[in-house]
Amino acid sequence: MTGQGRLAGKVVVITGAARGQGAAEARALTAEGATVIATDAQPADGCRVLDVTDPDAWAALAADLRAEHGAVHGLVNNAGVTWRARLGDVTAADFARVHAVNATGPLLGMQHLAPLMPPGASIVNVGSAAALTAHYPVAYTASKWALRGLAKAACVELGPLGIRVNTVHPGFIETEMTATAPPAFREANLRETPLGRTGTVDEVTGLVVFLLSDAASFVTGAEIPVDGGYTAHGGAKSISDALRA
Ligand code: NAD
Repeated sequence: MTGQGRLAGKVVVITGAARGQGAAEARALTAEGATVIATDAQPADGCRVLDVTDPDAWAALAADLRAEHGAVHGLVNNAGVTWRARLGDVTAADFARVHAVNATGPLLGMQHLAPLMPPGASIVNVGSAAALTAHYPVAYTASKWALRGLAKAACVELGPLGIRVNTVHPGFIETEMTATAPPAFREANLRETPLGRTGTVDEVTGLVVFLLSDAASFVTGAEIPVDGGYTAHGGAKSISDALRA
């Protein structure tokens, strides 16, 4: 597909690409003509090992990309971990560990790859519906709110260089991460989701492709939920449902 597709000619780095949404994004971006550098902390076929919390690994990746491609046109900060301890139980160590992956990781990615980005480049951060709500796993929720703040500041910092920074906020997407959620979480989540179902990884990739592409050339600093309406109603869905009959 070289030379064709909405991302033809673009070199794009994806973190956490061994499985789930990251793997789906790697497939979709490749199909759109991008040269995809898939990375993950775990060894996997087609993935370069990169732990997003490791500054030396980012520096090595940046050096290799500079030598091999000369430029990077996209970064998808997708890698993330959850931790479902509640407020009273979460340890400071777990809080810091989750923050390191979900917030410091994207910071390091931007710091190391932005210097390789020409005008028109695009950074996409994968936030979460948790970043827009009071989701109960506090370490995860706080880290994703931090990522929102990072993305806003980066949009201002990198805008003059022509680099765009946007954030997508998935709701309940079927991956190995959500497969480990308690059944009660799934059921309660579905009750709060206007579309009444969970989402698939391919329903997130379409938005990521758009934000990386030149079709989104005036879109920066945006936050776009991909959540079946979960974050749209501020708790009003249960009232609407109760009174509908
Ligand atoms: P997943 O657990 O299936 O995949 C996450 C990937 O990230 C794994 O391959 C894992 O090895 C990798 N990873 C973990 N720590 C890493 C690190 N330190 N460095 C590099 N890679 C690391 O999860 P997913 O559902 O595909 O989630 C992808 C992103 O979407 C995450 O940021 C997650 O927080 C976010 N998200 C997911 C959902 C959902 O419902 N699945 C909802 C909202 C947001």
